[in-house]
Amino acid sequence: MKLEFHGHDERYTVEQSLLNLFPGELPVYEPIQPGDHSWAVVSCREEGGRLLVSTDLCYDGETTTFFHTAALSGTDYDQEGQRRHAVGTCFFQAYHALTGNTPPWGMLTGVRPDKLVTQALNEGKTPDEARALLEKDYYVSPGRAALALETGTAAFEAAKGLGPRDIAVYIGVPFCPTRCAYCSFVSQSVEKSFSLVDPYVDALAAEIEAGGRMAREAGLRVRAMYMGGGTPTTLTAPQLDRVLTVFETAFGSALDGCGEITVEAGRPDTITEEKLAVLKDHGVHRISVNPQTMEEAVLRAIGRRHSPGDIQNAMELAARTGFPHINMDLIAGLPEDTAEGFRRSLNRCLDFGTDNVTVHTLALKKGSRILLEGLNIPSPQAVGEMLNYAEPALRQAGYEPYYLYRQKYMSGSFENIGWTRPGGACLYNIYIMSELCSILSFGAGGSTKMADPARRLIRRRFNPKYPKEYVERPEKTLANQADFSAFYRELNGKEPGPCIP
Ligand code: SF4
Repeated sequence: MKLEFHGHDERYTVEQSLLNLFPGELPVYEPIQPGDHSWAVVSCREEGGRLLVSTDLCYDGETTTFFHTAALSGTDYDQEGQRRHAVGTCFFQAYHALTGNTPPWGMLTGVRPDKLVTQALNEGKTPDEARALLEKDYYVSPGRAALALETGTAAFEAAKGLGPRDIAVYIGVPFCPTRCAYCSFVSQSVEKSFSLVDPYVDALAAEIEAGGRMAREAGLRVRAMYMGGGTPTTLTAPQLDRVLTVFETAFGSALDGCGEITVEAGRPDTITEEKLAVLKDHGVHRISVNPQTMEEAVLRAIGRRHSPGDIQNAMELAARTGFPHINMDLIAGLPEDTAEGFRRSLNRCLDFGTDNVTVHTLALKKGSRILLEGLNIPSPQAVGEMLNYAEPALRQAGYEPYYLYRQKYMSGSFENIGWTRPGGACLYNIYIMSELCSILSFGAGGSTKMADPARRLIRRRFNPKYPKEYVERPEKTLANQADFSAFYRELNGKEPGPCIP
């Protein structure tokens, strides 16, 4: 879509709205010519303390013009936000006037729509006011606004339990048995990169050892640890034992307040009795088994080598081992799936009786086999049907939503939601999604976040992306840890405020 702006430079806002509202359209900055079928002119000016915005929009040859006005007040920073919101609103309203559509999340384009709720609650607004804000100012559907209110409130409550030197730890294992069709992650298939696994575990152990020492010296307290990937359970039982032992020893007293250790046992074909026994011996509180579907044909279509029967066996093994919490992941919108197939998958998950179920919506990621090979995926309407079934079914079974996030290019512009029975919420998921505390990440592709929520400040450091590069460049991860430690030295002497997401 050709874009032209007058009197403002809200390029990012309009581009994000464009990607959200017109999937497949990309921004183009070339002069609009007579006969063009897809363009928008967005203008903005100030007059008497008000913003006057207009959008001329043409799509598929249909055109409309929309006007929007908004008050301008407060500091320069406030006014910047008001301008951004006014331009986004006008573009959205023009889209709505032209197409008659209102997407479930309205004009919201970000990853964490419930952040607005948490912020509103922090500012002293009531839950009703927070929900009304989403519906009235951002055109979010009442159903989605109610969901965001629940998950935004969970983040608001979780923040109250965090102190200024509380952090979370992430340990990444970027290996999987095979590559799933929807994946764009840099995970390496173990068959192709078997020789890298041992050196990777050596490098990971060394990085954790240094990081644990740094955390103790900085007086930090780990509240939750999450081991993800990839698929951590592609490691052998002795390798898992080694990583967890190093973690416990290196962090030592910094783990005194750690009530949550999670390991993704994502692919059922990597789960063995021996590995689960290692996790149990190390006091792992939660494992996540991620079949994504219980349908044989869909498992084949996404490149899984296991059957629904293997999932059943893995779940029985996990239940016998006796973890306090087990999560299962499902994805709505997978290749070859149908609304009926998704229903069957969810019902089978509910039969397992795990206390956590996460329902993702398929995101079409660049580099995934779905896009590269043009696999057949359900329509956005069918995905909507799947999700419309999931919510009441989960609620009826006693689950409630506790975190949600969105990704780019999601089927039907929906969301991913973590559901839990009371008392089973994974705090790590809330911390990371709502950016409530720093995350110290280990492993290839690890993204470390240094957060001072009181000042709404986040700094990021990235580990080398690929396992080989990670193994060969320990100096980069050590430099990241030095920055992490310096961040907390900087905070020394300042009186940190409460955690404000
Ligand atoms: S298990 Fe996860 S990380 Fe591994 S290939 Fe599948 S989607 Fe990618």
